[in-house]
Amino acid sequence: MLNEQGATTVVTAPVSVAVRPHRHGPDAGSSSTGHSGTPVMPEEGPLIDRYGRVHNDLRISVTDRCNLRCVYCMPEEGMTFLPRAELLDFDEIVRVARVARDLGVTSLRLTGGEPLVRKGLPELVSNLATLGFDDLALTTNGMELARQASSLASAGLTRVNVSCDSLRADRFESIRRRGDLRTVLDAMDVAESVGLSPLKVNVVLLRGTNDDEILDFAAFARDTARIVRFIEFMPLDAEGKWERSQLVPGRQVLDRIAAVWPLEVASDHAGPAPAERFRFVDGRGEIGLISSVTQPFCGTCNRLRLTADGAIRNCLFSDDERTVRDVLRGGGSDADIGQMFRRSVWAKFPGHAINEPEFLRPARSMSMIGG
Ligand code: SAM
Ligand code: SF4
Repeated sequence: MLNEQGATTVVTAPVSVAVRPHRHGPDAGSSSTGHSGTPVMPEEGPLIDRYGRVHNDLRISVTDRCNLRCVYCMPEEGMTFLPRAELLDFDEIVRVARVARDLGVTSLRLTGGEPLVRKGLPELVSNLATLGFDDLALTTNGMELARQASSLASAGLTRVNVSCDSLRADRFESIRRRGDLRTVLDAMDVAESVGLSPLKVNVVLLRGTNDDEILDFAAFARDTARIVRFIEFMPLDAEGKWERSQLVPGRQVLDRIAAVWPLEVASDHAGPAPAERFRFVDGRGEIGLISSVTQPFCGTCNRLRLTADGAIRNCLFSDDERTVRDVLRGGGSDADIGQMFRRSVWAKFPGHAINEPEFLRPARSMSMIGG
């Protein structure tokens, strides 16, 4: 939406929800003993929470390992990883995804850690694709993408999000500590050439580090037709060094770009997508803002997560985890898995509470949960 000055105005989330600090969600309680005024957990139908949010998007982490060490995510040395035996195997992941599909999940995104360091990923994609999701995407740092793009596309992957925090080679290396810009840019070309599009580029902005590249990234979006998404730094770094002063609010990004290239709202927060989308008024491309901290979009959240070691999580910022791996390995039924999904959703808090003074960081960091 444009104001008289031609700058964009930001549309905020339509659903207003109270937030409260948490380490764990409310008890899922019994599905059959609701009392007056207390909603009762549904035993059938879509995955709906106490606040009416329907959950149809599942993020699956396939590994907590990574070939990079981005400053906002992992320490340079000393990260410890899950023992192999604790990871869900592909059959287990597919089984959980099938149950999720039967509960109304229509969209899957594979992530990590770095998903492409997990051996044989195209095989997993192929098995997931046969389940028939509307969207089957992958978020990657791009280092292995050129090598695997063709087999991933043939296996049924629909699109990729590629993380890239700088368009300057030396700075890229100082932020990501390993890897190189050229490999990632080339991988984007390869991904598009095999049909993995629209391609989204994730940029985590850090004040004083790469926020002088906001316009460069906007120009990149205009030149390449890739959707560049600016992400606010979240308190999910493994080192626990996050400070609010380091993040660049989405609103400032928007103002800086709109002052040069007018933007209009491509979609607002009425939908569940985390990114607010803006189109360049002259028709040359699009950007997105993922303002998780300064403009939480919890009111329309439709997302669930499965960690690499088989925990169902209802929020990046909540420690509420239900270990579906125990059900899978203990002879549990699909109905048991489904019940675990329902209870997780039902226990979801209305908001992440990052902006509340009592907020506590979750015990696991971004790469351990699956971003
Ligand atoms: N390794 C892959 C990658 O980097 O794209 C996938 C996993 S990564 C955890 C998923 C996304 O989370 C990336 O876009 C990454 O930049 C972002 N991310 C990681 N740590 C973050 C943090 N503390 N705050 C905001 N975004 C973060
Ligand atoms: Fe690895 Fe992605 Fe974390 Fe960077 S953001 S360290 S690439 S998991």
